Amino acid sequence: MRPNIDNQKFKQFLLIKLFESFVKNMKDQAKEQQIRLRFLNSSNKILVTKNLFFEQFHYSLNEEEAAFLYQYFHAYYMKRKQRQFYDNQERLILLHHQNYECNLCHKAITLSNSELDHIIPWSMVGDELKNNLQMLCISCNRRKNKNIIIPFPNAILF
Ligand SMILES: [Zn+2]
Repeated sequence: MRPNIDNQKFKQFLLIKLFESFVKNMKDQAKEQQIRLRFLNSSNKILVTKNLFFEQFHYSLNEEEAAFLYQYFHAYYMKRKQRQFYDNQERLILLHHQNYECNLCHKAITLSNSELDHIIPWSMVGDELKNNLQMLCISCNRRKNKNIIIPFPNAILF
């Protein structure tokens, strides 16, 4: 049986995959600096997001999509390098929110056999994004490594 897919979440999932591909295509220091400057020099960040996307994919984002994606562009291009520390209390809140199940395989987990994961890897977006954290069982976390695997459709990302 096909899972019941929430259209809105599915669209956001696709936009995140496009963002990932954008970042990979632009992986070059000079290009990244250029993009950073375009954001810094413009007061209309949404328009910059739209233009970048159009240049890369020939796809016109609507306002809502551009606003959604801008937070990812901002996180990637403006990220602070310092890692944030998350304590057990924050881990417990996440575990509770996930009903003490691994967010990918849904195996039962506790504080002692789970790990905190950045849904979109820390190396990409730092700690800039809100709600970018999930608890995973140890084997899922090892398997996930640096890939973006959106726990879909049970995403807590949005
Ligand atoms: Zn798991």
